[in-house]
Amino acid sequence: MNKPITSGSLDLLNFDNRYVRELPGDPIRENSRRQVAGACFSYVTPIKVRAPQLVSYSPEVATLLEMTPEMCQSDQFLQVFSGNALATGMEPYAMCYGGHQFGNWAGQLGDGRAINLGEIVNSQNQRWVLQLKGAGPTPYSRTADGLAVLRSSVREYLCSEAMHHLGVPTTRALSLIETGELVERDMFYNGNPQDEPGAIVCRVSPSFIRFGNFEIFASRGENTLLQQFLDYTIQTDFPHLGKPGRETYLEWFREVCRTTAELIVHWMRVGFVHGVMNTDNMSILGLTIDYGPYGWLEDYNPGWTPNTTDAHGKRYCFGNQPHIAQWNLVQLANAIFPVINDKEGLGEALDTYRQTFQQGWADCIAQKLGLRKYIAETDEQMANELFDIMNSVETDMTIFFRKLADFDSQEASDRPDPLALFKDSFYRSEQLTPDYRERLSAWLTRYRMRLQQNGIPDVQRKAEMNRVNPKYVLRNYLAQLAIDKAEKGDYSLVNELLDLLRNPYDEQPHREKYSEKRPEWARNRPGCSMLSCSS
Ligand code: AMP
Ligand code: MG
Repeated sequence: MNKPITSGSLDLLNFDNRYVRELPGDPIRENSRRQVAGACFSYVTPIKVRAPQLVSYSPEVATLLEMTPEMCQSDQFLQVFSGNALATGMEPYAMCYGGHQFGNWAGQLGDGRAINLGEIVNSQNQRWVLQLKGAGPTPYSRTADGLAVLRSSVREYLCSEAMHHLGVPTTRALSLIETGELVERDMFYNGNPQDEPGAIVCRVSPSFIRFGNFEIFASRGENTLLQQFLDYTIQTDFPHLGKPGRETYLEWFREVCRTTAELIVHWMRVGFVHGVMNTDNMSILGLTIDYGPYGWLEDYNPGWTPNTTDAHGKRYCFGNQPHIAQWNLVQLANAIFPVINDKEGLGEALDTYRQTFQQGWADCIAQKLGLRKYIAETDEQMANELFDIMNSVETDMTIFFRKLADFDSQEASDRPDPLALFKDSFYRSEQLTPDYRERLSAWLTRYRMRLQQNGIPDVQRKAEMNRVNPKYVLRNYLAQLAIDKAEKGDYSLVNELLDLLRNPYDEQPHREKYSEKRPEWARNRPGCSMLSCSS
């Protein structure tokens, strides 16, 4: 353990592949698509690719893994993280899991295009699982090809790093590599398949276990395996809970409820819409996982979803996320019931979600508004009215909250134009009717009174608000611009955005343009406002 890293070879990394060592695997080694019963994973080998090219890597993630810049810039890095080679200690495998998709039990899903390379334990004793997304088929690939395209890989790579720097729990991304292969995709499932450049992201997380890992064993009645898997999860990822047992199981479920609630509060704070909150896309650690047709709210609209597949039901729209997370936790509770056999205990533990979310959201509102403390009697109604106002005309959520920090709590309320402060956040000037102006003015008057009672000096309030209301997010059209360039072989904007989003709460005057509202050309452009699961 804990070998010092002295040179540029990935073979020096310390792998400790506990998942494959301690859990039962699929005895069949053949990489054919099938149901895999009685096992937690299947060994698979990534396929080889023709001409890998490094688009970008994240130095922060490399540091976590104790990889030197020399390692990251080596040919070995390119070969290993494109799936062409294995470093010493890697034992590639795909995980078996199931899931509820759009509210229905979908049976076995599994890592259909994700291949775990192994687990690095660094000198801080932190465990990091490395996973290639798009490195070829596995037994869980069903009818698909196991590959990923550059477009979706840029989106996953940039967004996972952006989320981390925003302070939102997430899986990370080490690298983004173009494979030099073409991948056929019918982007809108409308009979227009196109060849697109292929790519592979190396995702990094302490664990990739999902709610669906538990569901698959429960659905098959594999209760011994279910318990073994639960014990493994607690011992590996929740060691602070102590020895697995009846009480520990409930405590564990409470913790999953709590971290999930905290995650959703963060998503709502920054205006993130996951887009596909199926139970197989819910991390047991409360991390944002599986970046697919996600999107960022531009104009504040709780009914918005970027996912065209969900355009009718809007199951996974922004405003529904808190409810869906709870629904998913109920599925997890059902799955582990055979081990715990305590309906009441599970029900009570589930309530942790509601309580944590309620408290977390109240605290979040207070922070977003710069209030010392959330006072339900006055602030709930005040916040609801603000969100209604924002929803009544197209208002950029990110810009609006950022501007609100500049609001002068001392100025007289007869200021000539109360809207002037927010002018950059409005998408349609024709919507700014006299009624609207009056409503916003009334709200601002009320907010001013509340701030005066709050008693935090404006300068300090502004600094505090700007620590929770980001200036820069990965606007949907920005990601698309980076993709357009990358598809032409120019990776500069991918790297520029990666750098921009390292400091999302800071003013970056030379990069002001990235904080501006979505330009009109992007309103209805695919990739900017509409995304499908095709990736
Ligand atoms: P998702 O909706 O992306 O979370 O995917 C749901 C399931 O489909 C997971 O089991 C994925 O591994 C699998 N899947 C998605 N895309 C592909 C693909 N291109 N090839 C193989 N499996 C895939
Ligand atoms: Mg998934």
